[in-house]
Amino acid sequence: MPSLHLNGITKRFTQHTALHDLSLTVQDGEIFTLLGPSGCGKSTTLWSIAGLHQPDAGSITLGDRVVFDHGRVNLEPEHRNCGVVFQSYAIWPHMSVAENVGYPLKLRKTPKAQRDRRVQEVLELVELGRHAGRYPHELSGGQQQRVALARALAHPPDMLLLDEPFSNLDAKLRDRSRQWLKTLQTQVAVTTVFVTHDQDEALSVSDRIAVMDRGRVRQVGTPTEIYDHPADLFVADFVGTANILPGEVVQADGTHALVRVEGLGEPLKVPHSDKRLGPVRISIRPESIAIHRAGRDLSANPGTLTAKVDNQAYLGDHYRYTVRIGGTPVIVTTTRPAATGELTVSLPPEDIRVFHEEAHPTEENHHASVH
Ligand code: ATP
Repeated sequence: MPSLHLNGITKRFTQHTALHDLSLTVQDGEIFTLLGPSGCGKSTTLWSIAGLHQPDAGSITLGDRVVFDHGRVNLEPEHRNCGVVFQSYAIWPHMSVAENVGYPLKLRKTPKAQRDRRVQEVLELVELGRHAGRYPHELSGGQQQRVALARALAHPPDMLLLDEPFSNLDAKLRDRSRQWLKTLQTQVAVTTVFVTHDQDEALSVSDRIAVMDRGRVRQVGTPTEIYDHPADLFVADFVGTANILPGEVVQADGTHALVRVEGLGEPLKVPHSDKRLGPVRISIRPESIAIHRAGRDLSANPGTLTAKVDNQAYLGDHYRYTVRIGGTPVIVTTTRPAATGELTVSLPPEDIRVFHEEAHPTEENHHASVH
């Protein structure tokens, strides 16, 4: 399966630039997710790849084929050979499952016997082999979505483009569909670009994720890279839950920084590759904060404090507490119930990330965060 390259894609609408000089590489056979808040340009990127939008600058290469090069090449969508699945399944209500799936092959004048074989093959792939004769209204939402996927796969696409395909499904079905997509992807190994604004979905299905913000890419990485080493505060805050606290770097040697965090006493020695001093924000995940048994004297430990519990909740598989550190509410999660009233917590320095203040993404830090 081919890889995909987007080089310097800019897309303007009348009032608004939706994509700013966007460059991305999607590797052969991977599930690559575009993740970001509503309006950040995910669908515009996907539509540009599919040929449904024409960018105002840049080029798009699919394998060794240039499918778009501004002012020179603009292949029609049907010649790009991308299988596209949208949030609304868009399967035809008057056609049976088999007719829906076979339609792209019929358009290409595939002989009937060959078409029937392929339809059965892709229906088996999406576990709907026994439902070939049913009509869409006889199927659940999840099954209809699988018909749409089967149709996108019927004429083997060079690339699969999925635009929020599971967002109409209920939470349980969505979860099952994600697992199922991953299994399907290992069977067909088709290079896939997946659009979602749901971070759990992105973390669970993707080989790599591009986090987008206002038409730019903030970071590209594997789910663990994105979650454990967010490139900036936006990524830390958007992907997962992050506690963000004000602080100040008082010393830094390029491998570690001494960071004073409001409300935490002595500065903490935190891994950090930047030598700049001055005001920063630090982030730490709720599950990284340790809770200590009551009565232990940890006052000498850096990064430890005892604080009143403002709020607590039981969420089935974990407990969530809110305490204040230097006036900022901080969420702490744990799988075991802790004492009520007050909690002694500590922030392990190795789990703290440090971010220097940046008003807006600039071209340089935008490129620096894309690897
Ligand atoms: P969502 O998650 O809400 O679908 P998105 O990240 O996919 O959002 P896009 O649909 O790509 O975002 O839109 C990016 C920006 O471009 C938005 O500000 C949107 O309003 C604007 N936009 C998208 N399509 C058009 C259009 N056809 N005409 C004008 N503006 C558009």
